Amino acid sequence: MFDYDLVVIGSGPGGQKAAIAGAKLGRKVAVVERGSMLGGVCVNTGTIPSKTLREAVLYLTGMALRDLYGASYRVKADITIADLMARTQHVVGREVEVVRAQLLRNHVELLQGTASFLDANTIRVVGSGRGESSTITAEKIVIATGTRPARPPEIEFDDRYVLDSDAILKLQKVPNSMVVVGAGVIGIEYASMFAALGTRVTVVEKRDRMLEFCDPEVVESLKFHLRDQAVTFRFGEEVERVEVSERGTVTSLASGKRIPAEMVMYSAGRQGVTDELNLAAAGLEADSRGRIKVDEHYRTTVEHIYAVGDVIGFPALAANSMDQGRLAAYHAFGEPARELAGLQPIGIYTIPEVSYCGATEEELTRSSVPYEVGVSRYRELARGQILGDTYGMLKLLVSTEDRTLLGVHVFGTNATDLVHIGQAIMGCGGTVDYLVDTVLNYPTLSEAYKVAALDVTNKIRALESFGTE
Ligand SMILES: Cc1cc2nc3c(=O)[nH]c(=O)nc-3n(C[C@H](O)[C@H](O)[C@H](O)COP(=O)(O)OP(=O)(O)OC[C@H]3O[C@@H](n4cnc5c(N)ncnc54)[C@H](O)[C@@H]3O)c2cc1C
Repeated sequence: MFDYDLVVIGSGPGGQKAAIAGAKLGRKVAVVERGSMLGGVCVNTGTIPSKTLREAVLYLTGMALRDLYGASYRVKADITIADLMARTQHVVGREVEVVRAQLLRNHVELLQGTASFLDANTIRVVGSGRGESSTITAEKIVIATGTRPARPPEIEFDDRYVLDSDAILKLQKVPNSMVVVGAGVIGIEYASMFAALGTRVTVVEKRDRMLEFCDPEVVESLKFHLRDQAVTFRFGEEVERVEVSERGTVTSLASGKRIPAEMVMYSAGRQGVTDELNLAAAGLEADSRGRIKVDEHYRTTVEHIYAVGDVIGFPALAANSMDQGRLAAYHAFGEPARELAGLQPIGIYTIPEVSYCGATEEELTRSSVPYEVGVSRYRELARGQILGDTYGMLKLLVSTEDRTLLGVHVFGTNATDLVHIGQAIMGCGGTVDYLVDTVLNYPTLSEAYKVAALDVTNKIRALESFGTE
């Protein structure tokens, strides 16, 4: 007899949804989480604070409306960190309460402390108070302990001049200049936010391109916009050392270049948080990046222990973690469930934002799939003009063989929402004709789908008429 049917370690999106799914199936469930981290990285240091910060930046800088009101338009002239953080702290506080209320409502017990395995069914929970420790047993266990920013050993982080994406949320002032090391999603999102605030940003990336999984045309547009905001890119460059003094930092690159800046933000990947779990006691192990291997049901090599979310690696997104948690709990208790649809959207909250779903042109070309492209530019949409977004665009990739939608790529306002229309059509195996034959609200950005659909069908018609001559 166990204390709980299910114990979940970690209360991020994966852990939360696993716990609630277990509770909905009538099981006795507990979640173990450290004192100050209810809601996980997602709510406290990752998705929610960064996206709220972005919204605050967009609003206070007035950036989105400069095409309408002129280049000098600002909502507030001197934007302070306090202005930015007020909104962030408010939203984070509310989201923590939402998570707490959801767990309570579903009778999930919340145990405060750090969990580690004593054996494959027994977990010790050590609280923050001295001598505070308890031992619990569970029939099934879900590990959802997430990741933390990786810190290269040769770099000395002081959380003031040299920091990572956690410490950036505790900045004392908006820097005049900044080096961002790593042009991954998190690095580029923060680079674009600080550039919008007027910080001179230099991005250093050891690969020779960035966001290589996205549509190259969209990435080019993003780079153009960021350069326009005084962002400098140093691709194919490696950081050798960072020197710090009271005046700021100097980043030395292997090529001999030296970049002075007020501060340096490292965004050099993330490490699974498994070091405190004592995995060996449960018969488990993690790889060199702290990640745990799972099968298609999110089951580890120990049958009754599951792992979900960032701790299992790719795609390491809140969106995916939630479903993984739910599916792990269903599998643990024999509840039938369908697998996740293969089509997963990617959202990048840069300024401007980027999103896509399905194939890229490069992938289709590589696998010799014939396709045609339909493009719609926001500046040709009434809603684009109303919003003052004249640079956004939506691109549809359509099979010239059966007219099915193969990919949708969006750049600009609401890209991360708009992409779901294309995703739904693709998920249902729909063709571009659905978009041609459907009336969409006017004036909306969704109308971009109609315009791109007409564009691509015109091209396909031209191709077909040529073929039948
Ligand atoms: C800056 C940034 C921006 C992001 N933006 C987005 C975005 O826009 N969209 C998106 O989908 N994703 C985004 N992500 C990714 C997203 O935050 C993660 O995918 C998501 O939080 C992972 O959820 P998780 O369930 O794995 O747990 P996490 O949210 O990582 O939480 C894990 C929890 O486990 C707890 N824990 C760890 N070890 C123990 C232990 N031994 N005992 C008890 N508790 C423990 C931790 O305290 C933590 O609270 C972003 C991430 C970052 C860092």
